[in-house]
Amino acid sequence: MVQSQHVAERTVVWQVKSVEEALHKKLEYKDQAMYIAGGTYLQLQREKGIPFPPNLISLALLPELQGISLEEEAESPFLQVGAQTSLNTCLRDPLIISMFPLLVQAIKQVAAPAVRNRGTIGGNLSFGSGDLVPLLLAYDASVSVLDDTGQKNIPLHEYINQPSENSLIIHVLLPLASVNAGEEETFSFYKKIGRREAFTTSQLSVAGRFQLSKDAKIIKALLTVGSSEEYPRHLETIENWLQGAVLTEETAAGIHEVVMKSYQPGTDAFSSAKYRKRILANILTAEVMRAQENASYYKE
Ligand SMILES: Cc1cc2nc3c(=O)[nH]c(=O)nc-3n(C[C@H](O)[C@H](O)[C@H](O)COP(=O)(O)OP(=O)(O)OC[C@H]3O[C@@H](n4cnc5c(N)ncnc54)[C@H](O)[C@@H]3O)c2cc1C
Repeated sequence: MVQSQHVAERTVVWQVKSVEEALHKKLEYKDQAMYIAGGTYLQLQREKGIPFPPNLISLALLPELQGISLEEEAESPFLQVGAQTSLNTCLRDPLIISMFPLLVQAIKQVAAPAVRNRGTIGGNLSFGSGDLVPLLLAYDASVSVLDDTGQKNIPLHEYINQPSENSLIIHVLLPLASVNAGEEETFSFYKKIGRREAFTTSQLSVAGRFQLSKDAKIIKALLTVGSSEEYPRHLETIENWLQGAVLTEETAAGIHEVVMKSYQPGTDAFSSAKYRKRILANILTAEVMRAQENASYYKE
């Protein structure tokens, strides 16, 4: 292990060589240390006046956090993406392009190319309000993490809801069943409403995935939302309301009403709760209509 550089008078960057060493350092320094991947989010925070902690544990040299591979032999096959994979590498990866094109679309809306060269997928999932989280929740993604209890796979929603301070994300796991549901049709969407000119996280990121029966009934609905002011989460009331509904104009109109009644967003300096609520209602209405147009039941 090399103690490589002093970023500021009191910040040391530790260049660790294995995931075990990274965890060991984190456990040694506890809240006086943070992992650093591409450093783009941490740098942004620093510019806002939040200083680096005394110790930064660099993940840049860890081979375990690199690479993208298809795990077809697993009981439930999945695409494994190393946490340290840069967003631009994800954009160019043939497996991600062919299997998860919506992820490509979402990543293109994160920051600018120079930031995406350094920013990583693991970093996006770890600070709480990364724009990719709602989509990955809608994909039923998991993460493989290492902490003081060992290495394990946990659903992304658990990691987001109960992040352990020391957890190191090693891989992001994208189940192939989320894009290929066999006999059933799948309809997915992702929308980011943001202040593009400022290249910041979104005012609202919305993702959804419907599994449809042959007669255009929604067998399973996953809807997620997140923003710079709201931790990404499932919209359970709306998901439950959609379960079993048929894709019709009545359903599209009904979802608008359900969102207006059940969704309680916060207000921030840039957008009111009322505005976010209306935006979400409009997006979901439009997406239910688009799902109806795309369903093969209505095309036959
Ligand atoms: C100009 C600018 C614009 C931006 N615009 C957007 C945007 O539109 N949307 C958006 O979502 N983000 C945006 N960001 C934030 C950021 O660039 C991305 O979210 C990026 O993916 C973060 O990855 P990183 O590797 O740089 O994270 P880092 O800054 O290295 O780390 C972020 C957090 O994750 C933790 N962490 C990193 N890797 C791991 C790991 N493997 N295990 C556990 N914890 C880990 C770190 O401790 C830290 O708390 C922007 C940043 C800048 C500078």
